[in-house]
Amino acid sequence: MILSQAITVIESNLADDRKLSTRLLEKIIHATGKSIRIGITGVPGVGKSSFIESFGTHITSLGKKLAVLTVDPSSQITKGSILGDKTRMEGLSRQPSAYIRPSPSGSTLGGVAQKTNDVMLLCEAAGYEIIIIETVGVGQSEVSVKNLVDFFLLLMLAGAGDELQGIKKGITEVAHAIVITKADGDNIKNALAAKASYEQALHLNPSTGTAWTPKVLTTSAHTKKGIEEIWRLITSYVDQSTADGTFVTNRKAQNNDLLQIYFQELLGLDVARFRSWQSEREKLQGKVFEKKISANAAAEKLLRTYHSAIRENSE
Ligand code: GDP
Repeated sequence: MILSQAITVIESNLADDRKLSTRLLEKIIHATGKSIRIGITGVPGVGKSSFIESFGTHITSLGKKLAVLTVDPSSQITKGSILGDKTRMEGLSRQPSAYIRPSPSGSTLGGVAQKTNDVMLLCEAAGYEIIIIETVGVGQSEVSVKNLVDFFLLLMLAGAGDELQGIKKGITEVAHAIVITKADGDNIKNALAAKASYEQALHLNPSTGTAWTPKVLTTSAHTKKGIEEIWRLITSYVDQSTADGTFVTNRKAQNNDLLQIYFQELLGLDVARFRSWQSEREKLQGKVFEKKISANAAAEKLLRTYHSAIRENSE
């Protein structure tokens, strides 16, 4: 499959592949941006893969092409994988209109988010109309994924407090919807109680600066309860935010952030190629530690060292 090969090039860190991927993205960029981008997060065991399996199957049954990209911070840090691999979303992965791609490799979480963005663009150019970006809710990863998606869905278990679930407080503030999972059998009552308490919490802390009020729903991947409703909620968000302009405003802000992130990465690489800069930095690190210079002044000095290294290099 050409898409998989292109993604392999994007994910590669080899210098030649990096050049190739820049050219590749240039060629397809005009055909990107037309999908609905959905972020899904939650702690391990909350039911992400089961939910995406059911939800994704619903989406493909509507005749839409779906790509699922997973971002797994644990695979960067410990080389282990919270999200597991092949066995997840087995049914969905067999469907011809669904494409599932596990976490790209990268040395930093920021790097992973950038690569995920590039992979998402490739999927869009290949005609995928819905993109799901799945991430484990263990820290910063949700925040960087928020930067890539239009709609952010937070999956929660009933009966466990926020702190038990390890969800950072800010996440509930950026979510467009909270979905209580496993609302089936004996757990329905708990799920409804959790829904009511989250609704109350959101009511008490309304998010500012947006016309959208986060919604709380319950679902079961087993009985499929709530699946259709969640899809309808997302499409109504897209309609509403398209009409009031926030959809485009959000994408623009994300583009600006991404440009800045990509630029900073290039800048970091550019600076590091000068030995004079590196040795100056080591010297200054020592001086800052010995309180001979402030970190602030040292940084300014380093910037000047960088500028003169560039000048000397171009002479
Ligand atoms: P993930 O780690 O967030 O991807 O969670 P999984 O989808 O792997 O689910 C974790 C466990 O919860 C598995 O044992 C699932 O069978 C179970 N589970 C997931 N969804 C449901 C559901 O809707 N109802 C019930 N009763 N169990 C579920």
